[in-house]
Amino acid sequence: MGDVLSEIWDKTLRYFQKRKSDLWRSWFEQLEPISLENGLLRIGVPEQTWMRYLQQMCNEGLKEAAQQITGHLLSLEYYHTDHNQLSDQRYANEPAETIEDGELFCFSPDYTFDHFVVGPSNRLAHAACTAVSESPGQAYNPLFIHGSVGLGKTHLLQAACQVLLKHRPPLRVSYLSCETFINHFIRAVEQGKLHEFRYKYRHADMLVIDDVQFLSDQEQTQEEFFHTFNTLYQTRKQIVLSADCSPAEIPKLEQRLVSRFNQGLVARIDRPDFETRMAIIHKKAQLRGIDPPEEVVTLIARKIESNTRELEGALTKVHGLAMLENGLITLELAREALGEEPISAHHQVTISKIIEAVTKHFDVRLSDLQGKRRSRSIAFPRQVCMYLARDLTNHSLEEIGGHFGGRDHTTVLHAYRTIDKLCDHDVHVRSTVANLVSSLTQA
Ligand code: ADP
Ligand code: MG
Repeated sequence: MGDVLSEIWDKTLRYFQKRKSDLWRSWFEQLEPISLENGLLRIGVPEQTWMRYLQQMCNEGLKEAAQQITGHLLSLEYYHTDHNQLSDQRYANEPAETIEDGELFCFSPDYTFDHFVVGPSNRLAHAACTAVSESPGQAYNPLFIHGSVGLGKTHLLQAACQVLLKHRPPLRVSYLSCETFINHFIRAVEQGKLHEFRYKYRHADMLVIDDVQFLSDQEQTQEEFFHTFNTLYQTRKQIVLSADCSPAEIPKLEQRLVSRFNQGLVARIDRPDFETRMAIIHKKAQLRGIDPPEEVVTLIARKIESNTRELEGALTKVHGLAMLENGLITLELAREALGEEPISAHHQVTISKIIEAVTKHFDVRLSDLQGKRRSRSIAFPRQVCMYLARDLTNHSLEEIGGHFGGRDHTTVLHAYRTIDKLCDHDVHVRSTVANLVSSLTQA
């Protein structure tokens, strides 16, 4: 019977993985079927956050999968099987979270420190969030994280919360979006329940409010928040805030709040560089139990530069398409999934075409590019060549170096990064490179 059950469960998982590849995570393999009786399939789940993820995101999909496999109508139930926690009876009934939003809220099991890639663009924000999660109220207070959309603010905030919730005894964490805070406040005023509202938010060990730019122009909520802030701050409770811009840049935010927000640590997240993007794709792939070839990871990291959420979206697209076919992720398939033109021999960019275009544009000679001179007038076109060669051809770094006077792969990588950075900061370089790319790829 046990074997039959495992087989059903295994097939159910495979069915789900194939059709809901965006929801699939590699930890699904750690779920255990407990029993299948009277139309009820019971599943053992070792982590609390996984349980919520399954209930809220995957229940319908898993149910459908199980019904397809067994040919019966079924329902699913999830049981928490963390034996360490069960033996710790003292805390068994204590609600660890004080989060209510009318609807059930769940921390994403994806948003933990383990799953966060640290790079130059986010190092400070990450270090500050870990410090705060280790000693709330003591390290930096308040902690204010800002950066544009999709760069990992919510991820870091939730990661910090999830650490606190694992404390024994658990700490009281209030995590909410700014909009929720505003709505709760307005509702509390309307229903004359301001007292409860205040009690709730002023008695947290850590209050985390995501996207506080929405406080802009909310005079009454700002007033209330100012007092909440002061109460927590005076009792040395941790406050963590995020926004898409720095405190001073939030439009119509009272000056006294701006100065409160600035009095702890303000950390900015920038958009990730190429290496960090590569590492993030690897991390996300691992989480989804897939192992895309390096050239696919490179393709995605090059194509999507500004927003980490879109990196993940691109991976989802590629994986989704692969699951519809034979499960294999190839460069061809990735290009198709991302709407890239298939490479035809006719359009293929070669290193000699790159050299031709660059020497013409900068009015330099091939022998200069291959020689040792380092003056900017030569070194810059040389770096542009290497950049384009890496971007537009499939040659390895070594091969590219070979075309430019036998330079080694670190030199090529350095050139690539240099031009990549310049493209960010210098409009002239950006447009020069863009023109070269379009003339090469449309030729
Ligand atoms: P924000 O709140 O800043 O708009 P999110 O925290 O929602 O951004 O991040 C968007 C997506 O990018 C999430 O899936 C998140 O896990 C991912 N992400 C962002 N930065 C990183 C990183 N450094 N490592 C891993 N994943 C990241
Ligand atoms: Mg966010």
